Amino acid sequence: MTLASQNTSGSSDTSPETPLPSILDVSEDDLNYVVSQLGQPAFRARQLWRSLYHDGAQSFDEMTTLAKPFRAALEERYRISPVAPEVELRSADGSTDKVLFKLQDGELIETVLMRYGLDGHRRARRTVCISTQAGCALGCTFCATGQQGFRRQLSPGEIVAQVLHMRRVIRSENAALIAEGSAKKDEVTEITNVVFMGMGEPLANYNNTMGSIAVMNHGQGMNIGARHLTVSTVGLVPEIRKLAREPYQLNLAVSLHAPDDESRSRTMPVNKRYPIARLMHACRDYVETTNRRIFFEYVLLDRENDTPEHARKLADLLQGLMCHVNLIPVNPTEKGPYSRPNDRRSALFREILTRSGIPNTVRQEKGIDINAGCGQLRARSLDDAVETAK
Ligand code: SAH
Ligand code: SF4
Repeated sequence: MTLASQNTSGSSDTSPETPLPSILDVSEDDLNYVVSQLGQPAFRARQLWRSLYHDGAQSFDEMTTLAKPFRAALEERYRISPVAPEVELRSADGSTDKVLFKLQDGELIETVLMRYGLDGHRRARRTVCISTQAGCALGCTFCATGQQGFRRQLSPGEIVAQVLHMRRVIRSENAALIAEGSAKKDEVTEITNVVFMGMGEPLANYNNTMGSIAVMNHGQGMNIGARHLTVSTVGLVPEIRKLAREPYQLNLAVSLHAPDDESRSRTMPVNKRYPIARLMHACRDYVETTNRRIFFEYVLLDRENDTPEHARKLADLLQGLMCHVNLIPVNPTEKGPYSRPNDRRSALFREILTRSGIPNTVRQEKGIDINAGCGQLRARSLDDAVETAK
């Protein structure tokens, strides 16, 4: 594990008592209004939007397309980022970064950046795993975030800012590669994918999650295609139904983790509210309405949900549904009783699914040495009392 940096910089533009709101929390419509209230023509709003989300400006000063008095007026009213990196870690193999961010009220959240195709064998992919809540109320027993409880919802700007930060990391790496002549400008990629699989339940923060998606997907800004965005849910039935009617071609991942109510309720309290039959009904309707497959996440917990019988039940449950199963050997948490099944057990589980015609993959693990699993860095830092460091 490398401790890449430990943040010591505070924000100079605010006093601790009255933090300015982040401009990343101003929606596109509201930004148009703000700009017109400041006596500026409408195209200035588009320039501002582009500076924020396309160029990734970190200060109003660097928005040189905007007149100085206008920049000063914005500076008086807003800050740019609502998140500040507190701890930044890089895995030993250089593939994975994990950042612990401090929010304006002191809450802590985590974001992970995963680099695929470093060796040039596959098309390079740069995936950011983002948080949508500080903590989580759903209490899945194997999850470090769930073990910490719910703190609060993240705003759209706090969600988007995590991607903007990681894009800056990638951009500076790309610039270095180009400068040293190891890559050409058209060979490097920026953030290619965003997965809503960090801390929290995105569909329990529905409007802010959708607001952040609107910004990430915006053609004049971050321009990340909806097909490259994956929302992961614990299985909130009404919200899955709502999501099916959204205009975006998003990917949906459903955390199933067990094929029967008895096993699922043991590890996922939400199953008592939305048992498997209701969940699967919503999933089948989702596939029918959107004509898009669902990804089912299945954390393999040794001797808990990984027997051949579980695999057979899972295959029966998913039979005929357009889907893909991601098998994830559990990342053991400090407080949880779970361990990973050995290779033989996971291989058998997989084989049963494959023989039943259920497409599946075992998820490649990244960043184990930096506690890249959901909620684990925050859990550890709280133990280390990092959050009281400033
Ligand atoms: N709340 C959402 C998204 C965040 S969790 C959800 O539950 O889907 C993202 C994924 O990480 C989920 O599939 C979750 O079950 C899984 N996960 C949580 N703790 C884990 C652990 N210790 N090891 C492996 N995967 C874990
Ligand atoms: Fe919350 Fe997802 Fe963790 Fe469950 S797995 S506690 S829903 S973050």
